[in-house]
Amino acid sequence: ISTKKQFKYVIIGGGVAAGYAAREFVKQGLKPGELAIISKEAVAPYERPTLSKAYLFPEGAARLPGFHVCVGSGGERLLPEWYVTKGIELILSTEIAEADLDMKILTSSTGRTFEFQTLIIATGSRVIRLTDFGVQGADAKNIFYLREISDADELVEAIGAKKKGKVVIVGGGYIGLEVGAAMRINQFDVTMVYPEPWCMPRLFTKGIATFYEAYFANKGIKIIKGTVAVAFDADTNGEVKAVKLQDGRVLQADIVVVGVGAKPLTELFKGQVDEEKGGFRTDGMLETNVPDVYAVGDVATFPLKLYNDMRRIEHVDHARKSAEQAVKAIRASEEGKSIEVYDYLPYFYSRAFDLSWKFYGDNVGDPLMFGDKNPASGKPKFGTAWIKNGKIVGVFLEGGTDEENKAIAIMARVQPPAEYLDQLKKEGYFIA
Ligand code: FAD
Repeated sequence: ISTKKQFKYVIIGGGVAAGYAAREFVKQGLKPGELAIISKEAVAPYERPTLSKAYLFPEGAARLPGFHVCVGSGGERLLPEWYVTKGIELILSTEIAEADLDMKILTSSTGRTFEFQTLIIATGSRVIRLTDFGVQGADAKNIFYLREISDADELVEAIGAKKKGKVVIVGGGYIGLEVGAAMRINQFDVTMVYPEPWCMPRLFTKGIATFYEAYFANKGIKIIKGTVAVAFDADTNGEVKAVKLQDGRVLQADIVVVGVGAKPLTELFKGQVDEEKGGFRTDGMLETNVPDVYAVGDVATFPLKLYNDMRRIEHVDHARKSAEQAVKAIRASEEGKSIEVYDYLPYFYSRAFDLSWKFYGDNVGDPLMFGDKNPASGKPKFGTAWIKNGKIVGVFLEGGTDEENKAIAIMARVQPPAEYLDQLKKEGYFIA
C-alpha cells in the first residue's frame, strides 16, 4: 500500500505562522485538497504566547479551543473543524524527519511521504536546554522549558503537585519574566536568576529594566543577577531539589523553569536552503533561494525594508504577517502578478501582572525616557524613545491606551525628528 500523499501546497510546522497562512490561503480562494499542514504537535495551530501567560493562571486559565489562531489578532478562531470545512488536511503528531527539495518530497519519522509543489517552511524554534551545555544534573525531573503546549501541560501538572512551593526561574528574558509572574500569581515562592546586569537586556535600557525589577520585587519575587545556574541536585525520586549558582549560593527548588533562549529549527534543510543570521535567507516575498520554497516566522531571515537590513525576528506579529505575505506572493506568482515586497515594522510586546508593554521600531541610537516610572504607582505609565541621527526610530510604552499604542507605531514607522517629542509635550500629550 502506498502511503504517498500529494498536495499543491504543504506547510511544514503547525504553529502561529501555519495558522495565519492557512487563513490567508482560504481568503485567496483555496480549493479543497490543495493544502496540508504537517505538525509535530498534537493540536491545531494556536497562539503560542498564551503558554507563558494565561495558560498558567490559577483561575480562569486559557485552554484550547479558546486560543487557536487567529484570536490573537482579533480574528476568527480556526477550530479543528474549520480545517475540515475548508478541505485543509491537518496532519498532526507527525514529525518530518527528511526533506528532499529537488524531488519535492518530505518524509516523516514513521516513513510516510508527502509530495508538494510549493512548500512553506514554518518550523519555528526549539528551546535551548541546559543539557545542551552539559550543566550537571540538568536532566532532573521538574526542570521545565516552555515551547509547545505539551511543555505547558507538564508545568501546569507540577504547579498542582508542588502547591505554593519554591520555584527558581533561570533566565531574565520575556519568558522568564512572564513565567515568574505567573508562578507568583500561583503563590509560589519565586526566585529569578540571570547573568546579565538587568532583565531583557537586548531590548530594555537600564532605566526600563529598573522599573520592572522593582515592580517584581514589590510582588515578592527575588532577583539574583550576575550569576548562572551551574548544577542541580535531585532527591531520591530524581526530582530537582536545589540549584547551585556559580557565585556559590544554593537555592532550594521544587520546580525550575528555564528560559534561556531559542534556536530556529533549520537542521532539516541544511545544505539545501541558503542561510543567513541563523535562518533561511528569503527575499521580500519570503521565498528562499530554492524556487517554490518559502520560509516564514522564526526561521526566516528577510530583508527589513525600513532599515535596509537582513533580520530574523522571533516574535508572533512577524510570524503572522510573514505568513500572510508568503501566501499572497505564492498566489500572485501563480497568476503572473506581482505584489509589494514585505515592509515590516518590528513590533514586540509582553504582559505580566497588571503590566503590559509594547515596542515598535528599532532600539538603536540614544534612548530618552519619559512618563511615570514609579513602580509603586497605581497605574504606572512610561516610555522610551530611541533617537538616531536626530530621528525617532523606536518607541517603547508601558501601560499605553490603544490610541497611544497606535500613535507610537506610527511614530516608529514615520520616524519624525526628535523635536516632535517637545511639540507633543506642548500640546499636552502624554508622550514626551
Ligand atoms: P512556532 O509557532 O514555534 O511553530 C512551529 C511549529 O513547527 C510547531 O508546531 C512545531 O512543533 C512544528 N515543527 C517543527 N519542526 C517540525 C518538523 N520537523 N515536523 C513537523 N512539525 C515541526 N512573541 C511575542 O511577540 N510576544 C510574546 O508575548 C511571546 N510570547 C511567547 C511565549 C512563549 C512561551 C513562546 C514559546 C514564544 C512566545 N513568543 C512571543 C514568540 C512567538 O510565539 C514565536 O515567535 C512564534 O510562535 C513563531 O511562529 P512560527 O510559526 O514561526 O513557529
